Amino acid sequence: MPLQQLVLNGFKSFADKTTIRFNNGITGIVGPNGSGKSNITEAIRWVMGEGSAKSLRGENMKDVIFAGSQMRAPMNHAEVELIFDNRDHQLASDEKEVIVTRKILRNGESDYLLNHHPVRLKDVRTLFIESGMSSDSLGIISQGKVDEILNSKPQQRRGIFEEAAGVLHFKQQKETALKQ
Ligand code: ATP
Ligand code: MG
Repeated sequence: MPLQQLVLNGFKSFADKTTIRFNNGITGIVGPNGSGKSNITEAIRWVMGEGSAKSLRGENMKDVIFAGSQMRAPMNHAEVELIFDNRDHQLASDEKEVIVTRKILRNGESDYLLNHHPVRLKDVRTLFIESGMSSDSLGIISQGKVDEILNSKPQQRRGIFEEAAGVLHFKQQKETALKQ
């Protein structure tokens, strides 16, 4: 399920609609400090259902919306889209191309779309967890993550191994079932 495109609109420093295309092989993104490299990986985690504003270096989830600059007014919404080639059907969908979208408005209202149809956060998280990827998986190592893993408590480290072993999904299902 190669990631083909990332489209950012109003997310953090990306005030203009920006499309990043990923070709086969390795893509490197380079730029000076503060140019938005980390914002790109955060945008990917955000669409995948990241729920912690702090882990996106904000206080509140609305902080992901472009806050304005000397030259530009703040925006009132942010939208990020991930486009996957799903011809291998690694994502549990019949679609050959899977488009996952997340939007947020200044009033805090948030929406998820799967191939342009509204879905719940739970659906997005399940889609990625089942495929072995999730917003907090080791598939994405953000700045500072290596230090965090090395300094984590045994319980947290266990979670990392469970995710890598693919049992996290079943554990979450069990926890949901026990609550019902
Ligand atoms: P480094 O090389 O230092 O790791 P980087 O390329 O990873 O830098 P980022 O941390 O992605 O850079 O980008 C930081 C920039 O994003 C800062 O200039 C910050 O002001 C800007 N930024 C973050 N949130 C917003 C927002 N909501 N609105 C506008 N700009 C934002
Ligand atoms: Mg960075």
